[in-house]
Amino acid sequence: MPNNYIFLLSVFLCLGIFGCQTTTTDTPPSDTKQEADTLSIVPMDIIAVEEADEILKKATPIDYDTTQWTELIRLDENFILNLKYATEDNFVDRQLYDCPRCFLHPEAAKALLNVQRELAKMDYTLMLFDCYRPWSVQQALWEIMPNPSYVTPPKRGSMHNRGLAVDLTIAHLNGDTLEMGTPFDYFGPRGHHTYTHHTPTVQANRALLKSTMAKHGFASIRTEWWHYNYRGVRRKTADMRWECD
Ligand SMILES: [Zn+2]
Repeated sequence: MPNNYIFLLSVFLCLGIFGCQTTTTDTPPSDTKQEADTLSIVPMDIIAVEEADEILKKATPIDYDTTQWTELIRLDENFILNLKYATEDNFVDRQLYDCPRCFLHPEAAKALLNVQRELAKMDYTLMLFDCYRPWSVQQALWEIMPNPSYVTPPKRGSMHNRGLAVDLTIAHLNGDTLEMGTPFDYFGPRGHHTYTHHTPTVQANRALLKSTMAKHGFASIRTEWWHYNYRGVRRKTADMRWECD
């Protein structure tokens, strides 16, 4: 087992179970005795299996360049991943990702965490349908559906290829989604922001998503209620492919 893995595991066990502080060698804990007492009254076997699983999941070594990408689930485990392109349940009926992992540009990820925190006050969370999409997947998508009304031509590159776009909706903490009038990737007038014949509930839900996203730097596009572009930074398209187990 590599040393950095052991270190990460200890850090997360410490943070996750005991809430204690990590310290560097030249700054010893201010109250070592109190910390030792706290540790001695928390036997290891009271840790719920689920909790331990969560800690181990977080202790998995980071396998991507954190200066370029942030994996959303590491910021907040309440994000619900429902990445449609990691399944065949999408508008091209093909699985395009080997496994569901959601990455964004670090700035966009931080902004989305703020959206998430704001919605959490209302006991909501965000369900993510698509995040960063590698350029080669954009190319594959284009080969299946070479129609610019549905797929951004790879020559131009989508904001998803830059890690600056996200497809999402609002959900309850149990995973039930709020009514938005159409499913994700419904291409037609009913999916547009400008469609005015939805029920007041649908309109209010869309407005909540749009206003909360806008507050944190995300712009909507007219034709897809689920798609948002982060406007705070710019960068070129990328083709980082993530690892799967
Ligand atoms: Zn999108």
